Amino acid sequence: MPRPLHAVIHRDALAANLARARAAAPDARVWAVVKADAYGHGLERAYEALRAADGFALLDLAEAGRLRGLGWRGPILLLEGVFDPRDLELCSRLDLWHVVHEEGQIDALGRHKTHKPHRVFLKLNSGMNRLGFAPAAFRGAWARLNALPQVDEISLMTHFADADLDGGTEAPLKVFEAVTQDLPGERSLANSAALLREGDRPAVRGDWVRPGILCYGSSPDFPAHGIQHWGLQPAMSLRSRLIAVQALQAGDTVGYGSTFRAERALRLGIVACGYADGYPRHAGTGTPALVDGRRTRLLGRVSMDMLAVDLSDVPASGIGSEVTLWGRSADGAVLPIDEVAQAAGTVGYELMCALAPRVPVSVDG
Ligand SMILES: *Cc1c(COP(=O)(O)O)cnc(C)c1O
Repeated sequence: MPRPLHAVIHRDALAANLARARAAAPDARVWAVVKADAYGHGLERAYEALRAADGFALLDLAEAGRLRGLGWRGPILLLEGVFDPRDLELCSRLDLWHVVHEEGQIDALGRHKTHKPHRVFLKLNSGMNRLGFAPAAFRGAWARLNALPQVDEISLMTHFADADLDGGTEAPLKVFEAVTQDLPGERSLANSAALLREGDRPAVRGDWVRPGILCYGSSPDFPAHGIQHWGLQPAMSLRSRLIAVQALQAGDTVGYGSTFRAERALRLGIVACGYADGYPRHAGTGTPALVDGRRTRLLGRVSMDMLAVDLSDVPASGIGSEVTLWGRSADGAVLPIDEVAQAAGTVGYELMCALAPRVPVSVDG
């Protein structure tokens, strides 16, 4: 018997979440953001379910190559552009659209030999201070690009730092509009949070939206809103089984550091899942989990290969009972990854991306 821990990728959920993205901005085209191997879900596993998108956005050239290998002929956008002038050859060969966020990338384009001009997305730093031209430099960069025979259409983009907060898009939106107002070209601004919360505003929606996390069934503005509020479904379930049951008496402790001490007698279940599987070690006592689809909680510290759950409210459970660490149980009960992430002081994004290679993954739907 293999170890019972495994992840399931739900194709039906990916497709439904993508449809939800489209419904939030029916007039925009949709980039399905699939960076980091589709947020840990696996590009090949997610591809069929997400190919209803208008394009795929990612940042690793090898992943772009894999998408072409899967047969995708539509747009692919490199969100960080090229890392080296030689990458432009692959862009020409694979017909990749790319972000231009700094002068060196324009220099490289100017020296690039190609028969087919490139479609580029010129990025404005509207306040996040990660990538993009400063407002004062943006129009100069646009003019330089516009003069290059290597460049076809120039689209305009920016990225929000605080789209999950009330009013968080206002200041960057003002900067973007002031700098780009009379420039031609398509616009792309919205990540998942901006799309779900403000996709009805044309200025936020633009021509292309860039949902990532929502496709995978995690809420971009949790805990303000959960996936139920947004009508999203978990696309990844992490499931295992109980491999041992312990009867604790009052005063007994659980796990390394003995951080949990029982106040009364209780049944404890040991689950085959630990931090070496990508489950967060910082998820302490009280972190939710499902046993046989019933909600319960972790007790004590997560160890490398195991963790412990309270079976007080799941009396029929025993060795072999199904445990859902996040996602949906076999009988359809849902534990949003956001709740587990919050208990561990992180976000759903990190948990998905951190699923360890040793965890076998299957696909359903
Ligand atoms: C990752 C990323 C997105 C998607 O963000 P989500 O919060 O996952 O929707 C959009 N745009 C850019 C530039 C990104 O890097």
